[in-house]
Amino acid sequence: MKKSYAVIGLGRFGGSICKELSREGKEVLALDSDEDKVNEFKEIASDAVIADATDEAALKELGFRNIDHVIVAIGDNIHASILTTLILKELGIKRLTVKAQNDYHEKVLNKIGADEIVHPERDMGKRIAHSIISSNVLDYLELSDEYSVVEIKAGEKMAERTLQDLDIRAKYGCNVVAIKRGKEINVSPMATEEIEFNDILIVIGADKDISRFEKDLV
Ligand code: ADP
Repeated sequence: MKKSYAVIGLGRFGGSICKELSREGKEVLALDSDEDKVNEFKEIASDAVIADATDEAALKELGFRNIDHVIVAIGDNIHASILTTLILKELGIKRLTVKAQNDYHEKVLNKIGADEIVHPERDMGKRIAHSIISSNVLDYLELSDEYSVVEIKAGEKMAERTLQDLDIRAKYGCNVVAIKRGKEINVSPMATEEIEFNDILIVIGADKDISRFEKDLV
């Protein structure tokens, strides 16, 4: 059976998830307490309804029990976000992704069993900061508080040198897990692999080590 989704809160973040899932042909129920927001999504989502997500009876009536994955994207109203998550958890939703506004909010969401907690503003801020520091850092993905994966474009300092030569693992404690060259991607580069100008390196490591690596070589 086709997987079904629901997005609660159709602000910029929830709205964008809803649009993208719909564009990919997924079945999406869009919900917001604001009528204007809901009207915006009438033609986009499979179904768009006005409801207060903290109203348990309303969620039951809308058949939330049968939805496979619910995204709670209520912004500033932390109280409503927590209460909604709690109700959905009690309804037995299989997968719950919730947007957190701050660390305290995240802690509570963790305690009540949200499966996935996202901080879009914080994460995007970090990514952009890294690409501002160096235009060769193309992307930055946080794995935990301490570890990340970065996508780095090889500049002159790395070009025509091998991984062995650069001694990245020993010097910086980071691992180059893949090298992209045009459409090709080498997912297990050898130490003798020579890097070309504009290759894209996927590097994994501790943030402090990646910072040293970026300072020296990017
Ligand atoms: P963003 O920062 O992603 O734009 P917003 O705070 O602007 O987030 O949007 C959150 C959305 O959540 C708003 O459209 C708001 O109407 C909706 N919302 C807030 N509380 C509830 C609730 N209890 N039930 C349903 N929708 C809600």
